[in-house]
Amino acid sequence: MAERILIVGGLVIDPARKLEAVRDVLIVDGEIREVAAGLSKKSALAGAETVDARGKWVIPGLVDMHVHLREPGREGDETIATGTAAAARGGVTTVLAMANTEPVTDNASQLAFLRAKAAQDAKVNVLFAGAVTVGQKGERLAEFAKLRAAGAAALSDDGRPVMNAGIFRRALESAKDLGLLVIDHCEDLNLSSGACAHEGAVALRKGLKGSPWAAETVQVARDIALVELTGARLHLAHLSCAASVEAVRQAKKRGLPVSAEACPHHFCLTDDMIPGYDADWKMNPPLRAKDDRAALIAGLADGTIDAIATDHAPHGCAAKSAGFDTAPFGVIGLETSLSAALTALYHTKALTKRQLVERMSSAPAALLGLKDKGTLAPGADADVAIVDPDASWTPEAPFLSKSRNTPFAGRRLKGRVLHTFVAGRPVVHAL
Ligand SMILES: [Zn+2]
Repeated sequence: MAERILIVGGLVIDPARKLEAVRDVLIVDGEIREVAAGLSKKSALAGAETVDARGKWVIPGLVDMHVHLREPGREGDETIATGTAAAARGGVTTVLAMANTEPVTDNASQLAFLRAKAAQDAKVNVLFAGAVTVGQKGERLAEFAKLRAAGAAALSDDGRPVMNAGIFRRALESAKDLGLLVIDHCEDLNLSSGACAHEGAVALRKGLKGSPWAAETVQVARDIALVELTGARLHLAHLSCAASVEAVRQAKKRGLPVSAEACPHHFCLTDDMIPGYDADWKMNPPLRAKDDRAALIAGLADGTIDAIATDHAPHGCAAKSAGFDTAPFGVIGLETSLSAALTALYHTKALTKRQLVERMSSAPAALLGLKDKGTLAPGADADVAIVDPDASWTPEAPFLSKSRNTPFAGRRLKGRVLHTFVAGRPVVHAL
């Protein structure tokens, strides 16, 4: 007997097909079989398991192209198992895991090992990035062809920039030949050296060393020039400031193959909101000024910023208690990303529901070349989230993530994921 699930009466939002209408969704053997009105009345489907989605949204499972799962090396902070459980709770059904593990995922054998581990442990689909340079030292390119053969979905030294423009140029040329997407963490380390916050009035008042917006934009501008030089595709991670958004906007106007992402903490929060010296509000790039936040939202609205990604970066309590200047950078985000985005972008009318779902599902799926993800088209993988857009809740520890370092703890959010299906199997039921 085929495994059949019928999701009944929800508002189906499938940006890839420009569909936004009340429909039933039939899943058979892990694939979307049919999306149509009135399926629940068909007698042939009488035996199917049904899920009532009336009054809710039914959307493609989210694709988060920027996640740190900490395995191998820091399993005390997160593992593939716990990180993907957190993803599922947030409606995220595919993640791209970054390569700044310990050791760095810069070779085919480690990548193959991780893919096998994920096949065993993961609750959602996990893709892996390979490092751009050996050991993320920025000196010697990793073996891209071997990484691709082992299944690397993209290349990134994220956590660190590739500071040497000559090496980054060669990385772009080589990745272009192999059809691999490069993702850059834009930060000029000479400008950001020793900083733990955004350079501005707040850091000054608190006596914290700030990193200026230009630390990011200098490298965004360099990267755009290298894209123009090489013709390679490049994705810019976690944009945080207005000048970077404008640089990407102009590059896109000139037809350059640049894409970009923004993180919920950057478009929801600003540096003046940081309570005291709470390091759960410390990440890299840092929370910036109100104008920067507004520019990110405008960039998401007009499509300059293609995707929303979490930069989920788990750190244990002990490390985060070390004081704002010495605690590590990073916050978790998988369990709250859709809720935060709904709160800051949809309920404020900055983005339509379709735009919001697009930035979190079909757009990142397209950037990563995933044909069967990010859509509810018949034949696609049945990765689905059911969302109550109006449910208010307050994220609080414990989380499914092993870590709890999030500035959204204790903040009221509007909108919540109720069910997540991966390949037609329910991973999270009503909480
Ligand atoms: Zn980064």
